[in-house]
Amino acid sequence: MKKLILIKIGGSSITDTSREGIAKPEVIRRLAEEVGQAGKNTNVILGHGSGSFGHIIGKKYAVQKGLINEKSREGAALTQNIAAQLHRIVINEFCLKGINALSFPPSAGAITRNRRITDWNLSAMQAALECGFLPVTCGDVVMDSQLGATIISTEEALRYIAEKLKPHKVILGGDIDGVFTANPKTTKDARLIKEINSKNIEEALKGAGESTKVDVTGGMKTKLEYAYEIARSCHTVCQIVNIDVPGRLRSAMMNDEVTGTTIRL
Ligand code: ADP
Repeated sequence: MKKLILIKIGGSSITDTSREGIAKPEVIRRLAEEVGQAGKNTNVILGHGSGSFGHIIGKKYAVQKGLINEKSREGAALTQNIAAQLHRIVINEFCLKGINALSFPPSAGAITRNRRITDWNLSAMQAALECGFLPVTCGDVVMDSQLGATIISTEEALRYIAEKLKPHKVILGGDIDGVFTANPKTTKDARLIKEINSKNIEEALKGAGESTKVDVTGGMKTKLEYAYEIARSCHTVCQIVNIDVPGRLRSAMMNDEVTGTTIRL
């Protein structure tokens, strides 16, 4: 059995966060190359964030809160539609680089309860892996048994997949080197925390905060909570790395010694 790696490519890396609905195809292409180079003998499931595609409309209509008013359905539909456009762009760029990517968006099959996936049949995704495809999922609008509809992050999608498929490693790639003692975008002397485990998780969470961009699913605090939960419940290594740096994703896929934060229990 080949090793399985789950990878998130963050919305802030693959879209222009200052302009609604603008992707960065050249970045996606480079990341596709890195996945292609490092993933030859590995099974990979890729998830991508929504960046300036889903988050702006999602925030305007407060889709995360559920079906709360007469505009909520419109907001959910528009958010899913624009998130799907980025999803196709990602898959298109991977295909252009010779990677046989297949789409598995959570909206097609996942059910959540208060934004946590309770049910998602992954057998088609597993079959695709076994047949040599690269399954691609994303942050998405999903049906929720309490809220009607809501938004889930890529991390939530990957958390569920990790729980079911027990990957060898989970890589959360974004626009920052890892978890710092404080937000390095606003605090000058913030230091990178290289290893997080049960001894320093509380301290690390105290320093982790919101995103400085429009983001309806979290910032670093939520990302770290997810990474810690995945590492603990799946007995796997979770790494937070900066995929804006060329080669960093490839290195993280190939070995553990990479600039970033490793969460391991
Ligand atoms: P993505 O969109 O790539 O999933 P987010 O924007 O949601 O990532 O979260 C990463 C952001 O969280 C960073 O760009 C940074 O602005 C912010 N942040 C807040 N606190 C920290 C911290 N302690 N260490 C690193 N980043 C932090």
